[in-house]
Amino acid sequence: MVEAVGRLGLVRARIRAACAASGREADAVELIAVSKTYPADAVREVFEAGQVVFGESRQQEAAPKIAVLPAAIRWHFIGRVQRNKVRKLLPAFEVIHALDSLRLAAAVNEVAAELGLFPKVFLQVNVAGEASKGGFEPAALDEAMEALLGLERLEIQGLMTIPPEGPDAETARPWFERLRTLRDGLELKHGVSLPGLSMGMSGDFEVAIAEGATHVRVGSAIFGTRLARVEGELGWKPI
Ligand SMILES: *Cc1c(COP(=O)(O)O)cnc(C)c1O
Repeated sequence: MVEAVGRLGLVRARIRAACAASGREADAVELIAVSKTYPADAVREVFEAGQVVFGESRQQEAAPKIAVLPAAIRWHFIGRVQRNKVRKLLPAFEVIHALDSLRLAAAVNEVAAELGLFPKVFLQVNVAGEASKGGFEPAALDEAMEALLGLERLEIQGLMTIPPEGPDAETARPWFERLRTLRDGLELKHGVSLPGLSMGMSGDFEVAIAEGATHVRVGSAIFGTRLARVEGELGWKPI
């Protein structure tokens, strides 16, 4: 996993360069090292090389890793949130990236109140209206905004998206731009500040930074090709 430390350095350099190219400060973008499917030892090495913020997408997978890793690690939950997992997620994760419905947001708000927490959250937007993906439709988010803002326990950071897959990074640009424009519109209309844009992954984080990303979620460019056991299959395949 020495390679992972080397790749972390490269990703950091690419983030700095992308910030410089678009006239943004180097610390305007937070790197979330997405460690899903990678073992705790790999996370530890990358942490010891100076990376503090990590992302996981499944509570069941994350819990045993979090238990054995340094408490100084700041965990972000980037996956789909199941309502029956919220009670376990909130104490362990500093930020939730994919609140995708008012119903879920209300459930998180309620549990947060019980636990005495004020979680930081992003609202996930399904920018392309893909049936396979979670997230608010843009118009539905506008409609839900006042109710969301009334959930007093949630510290809404901004918007998050996972754009449709495409042949190259440039394919994602219009979707990143759309998320930013949607954010700008919501800020004006609802008189609220939504500074965060969680967008950009290994294949397209530089484009996302050019379009205003404040949080990039990068896994395989740091940890290497992701291997995961696919249920019902022998052997491993990249996901
Ligand atoms: C897995 C995942 C990532 C990281 O993907 P890479 O292509 O490995 O960088 C980012 N965001 C979400 C929501 C993910 O599930």
